[in-house]
Amino acid sequence: MKAAVLHEFKKPLALEHVPEPKPGPGEVLIKVEACGVCHSDLHVADGDWPQFARITKIPLILGHEIAGRVAALGDAVHGLSIGDRVGVPWIYWTCGECESCREGNENLCSKQQITGVTVDGGYAEFVKAPASHTEKIPSELSSIEAAPIFCAGVTVYRALSQSKISAGQRLAVFGAGGLGQFAIQIGVSIGAQVTAVDISEEKLATASVLGAFRTLNASATNVVKEFRSTGGAHVAIVTSAAKAAYDTAFGCLRSHGTLLVVGLPSENICFPPIMMAAGEVHIQASAVGTRKDLREVLAMAAAGTLRCHVATGPLAQVNEVLEELRQGKIAGRVVLTPQ
Ligand SMILES: [Zn+2]
Ligand SMILES: [Zn+2]
Repeated sequence: MKAAVLHEFKKPLALEHVPEPKPGPGEVLIKVEACGVCHSDLHVADGDWPQFARITKIPLILGHEIAGRVAALGDAVHGLSIGDRVGVPWIYWTCGECESCREGNENLCSKQQITGVTVDGGYAEFVKAPASHTEKIPSELSSIEAAPIFCAGVTVYRALSQSKISAGQRLAVFGAGGLGQFAIQIGVSIGAQVTAVDISEEKLATASVLGAFRTLNASATNVVKEFRSTGGAHVAIVTSAAKAAYDTAFGCLRSHGTLLVVGLPSENICFPPIMMAAGEVHIQASAVGTRKDLREVLAMAAAGTLRCHVATGPLAQVNEVLEELRQGKIAGRVVLTPQ
């Protein structure tokens, strides 16, 4: 089968023919119809997150926003048939036995396998995955629409669920790209008053179309002052990987506000303790989501509440797409198709 393979960090992926995976017991073989390109893929390919570089399988097929069709079943697979449409998320497998799994936080499983990091992912014609950790795709969604939900969508959904933001509250979304677009739509559907902050007028225009109450261009506006004069944000979600976005977002919180850590800069982020105490602010981090989160966010998308603005490209263009993402030239999400 065709695949884009990482042989060495910081080098372009090699487009080559590799053997088709064989599903073992409990696994399914999936014919990939769409695979989203996530910002994390850049970090995995560059090896610049040391925590991931240590566990990255080399050679590796990247890609963890996979949507496709079951093409073959391993032994002892229940509940899936050949032809079913399923997706594979970042979390490829969890043990079900560790403390986190037993507490319902399988996204924090200490033994988890990660799609496109510790095992091969979806930048290929086929991928195999444990049937138990795939999720059926609702018929209302195309594979191209569904793919980004398997990382970007579920990540933002879990973060906002944990913040317990409610109708009428002010939500600040920092970064109006792939994840930010989901955050805006989820916020709007909850009834929150959403402000989108970005430095790209193109992304802010999309934010308005998606229902943002107000947009602020951080390169032209004093964002902290704008928020302070309107009462501050109950919740600020940072989907951008820029440290500067965190500094600004922290300043925009009202008392008892919550800063949601979703975008992951390589540098440390830090805040003045006196300001943290003065506002009794909450800082809440979030890591992708559980299978329950995934089912819930897929249902929202099937109901029409969530749409991801995607561009598509053939798998053969993966290196060009990664380079554009690196340069910040991609406004929404790019989904690759192997055909
Ligand atoms: Zn991702
Ligand atoms: Zn576990």
